[in-house]
Order: sequence, then C-alpha cells, then structure tokens
Amino acid sequence: MKKLWKCSVCGFIWEGEQAPEACPKCGAPAEKFTLLDEEQAAKVYNSDRTNDIHMELIELSAKMVKVCEEGIAINLDPMCVKAFEAAKNELWIIKQRSKAELEGHMNKGKW
Ligand SMILES: [Zn+2]
Repeated sequence: MKKLWKCSVCGFIWEGEQAPEACPKCGAPAEKFTLLDEEQAAKVYNSDRTNDIHMELIELSAKMVKVCEEGIAINLDPMCVKAFEAAKNELWIIKQRSKAELEGHMNKGKW
C-alpha cells in the first residue's frame, strides 16, 4: 500500500512517498499535509471503487432522466408519459440514495 497524505487545509488526498511540494487543489505547502495511518489509508483504498460506482450510478441516472424527458416531450400517449414520469421519479431516488451514501463515506474518511 502506498503512502497517503491529507491536506489539512482542503482535504485533498495525495498518494506518494512524500507529501507534494504544493497541494494540487489549494496550493498549501507540504508541511500542511499529514500522513494517514494504515487504518485511514485502508478506508480510502477500500472505498475508492465503491465511490466510483456510486458516481457512475448518479451519472447514468442523469442520462436516463434526459431520455425520460425526451419521451415525455414526444407525448405519444398518456400511458407512455405516465411511465416516463414514473421512471424519472424513480431515477431521482436512485441518484439521491447514492449521493447520501457518498456523503456518509466522506464523513467517515472513506474517500
Ligand atoms: Zn489543499
């Protein structure tokens, strides 16, 4: 496992043997970085792919919402519109559930 350093100013996590000369996000100097201990680093690595999957779900949901909106706009018949509106509402739930999950991860250092 590589070393992880966290910027105490903005929370950016850097991977490397040493802290960066300047934070890529906020520009804070190396001394503002603290080395994450093994437990903290494991949380970051173990949650990386899962967080990406949540983000992918959020992205795909947003794309599907656009598809639903197209269907609603075409307005072929009332049942179709109803189905697209229902799907759009369900996609909102999928998106928000993943966002809430991500927020939970952020608060527990899983990012
Ligand atoms: Zn920073």
